[in-house]
Amino acid sequence: MSSRLDLHVHTTASDGLWSPARVVQEALARGLRYLAITDHETTRGAIEAIAIARGTPLEVIPGVEISVSSPEGEIDLLGYFVDPTHSDLLRLLEGMQAERVERIHAMAERLAQLGMPVPWERVLERARGDVLGRPHLARAMVEQGYVADEAEAFRRWLGHGRPAYVPRRPVDPREVLSVIRAAGGVSVLAHPGRSGLPRNLEGLWRAGLAGLEVFHPDHSPDDIARLMAIARTYDLIPTGGSDFHGPGPDGRILLGTMPVPAHTVDRLRERCPRR
Ligand SMILES: [Zn+2]
Repeated sequence: MSSRLDLHVHTTASDGLWSPARVVQEALARGLRYLAITDHETTRGAIEAIAIARGTPLEVIPGVEISVSSPEGEIDLLGYFVDPTHSDLLRLLEGMQAERVERIHAMAERLAQLGMPVPWERVLERARGDVLGRPHLARAMVEQGYVADEAEAFRRWLGHGRPAYVPRRPVDPREVLSVIRAAGGVSVLAHPGRSGLPRNLEGLWRAGLAGLEVFHPDHSPDDIARLMAIARTYDLIPTGGSDFHGPGPDGRILLGTMPVPAHTVDRLRERCPRR
């Protein structure tokens, strides 16, 4: 096991609190060897981080995290070693970003109907032109004093099935798996301990899923043991990362703190389609 890699990291390009430059700086200070930038539905943060880390001992792996539909609800797929400017990938991501703006706007309208108007300009300002997400809305709610923190915003209003929740348009996981592959990348199922293992895991595996995110801050030791067994059964690569979005409410910085099997990066690289 090694703590010198983190394969699940967000930046301000999506809903992270730190810029790609700040994340790279911290990863270098912590002596990391590999860092995968996996922003939600954009590769802009990865592109920036790669440029910044050039010439340093840190290798930044271009990644992306994409939500897809499953019989149990939404699940997240992580793509690694994608060409971050591949036209098929960019087309898919641009469509999803446009849909995000519509959806978050619809949720803001629900909040207004519930007596909690948030200034839409502020929400957009917080996202600074990058990929919009529910955390931006949650942070605006905190600012307006409707909730004490982001967690309360999700628990009471924005989470699945809560009063201001608006579901996403369904996204076929097979399409996303095939676009990640077309962009030269390899796909991993994100935090299945938190979102639950989808019943169609075998279907995803047949459609090209190559890995399972076993090591994640939300996973208990039991989750890890169970997921390791499943990874072995399907010959899926066990991966891991901190799912870093910035310092936690307690000020803790989890970047690079999840122990991940040392050869994970080589194994992922080996499974990428040849370009
Ligand atoms: Zn994530």
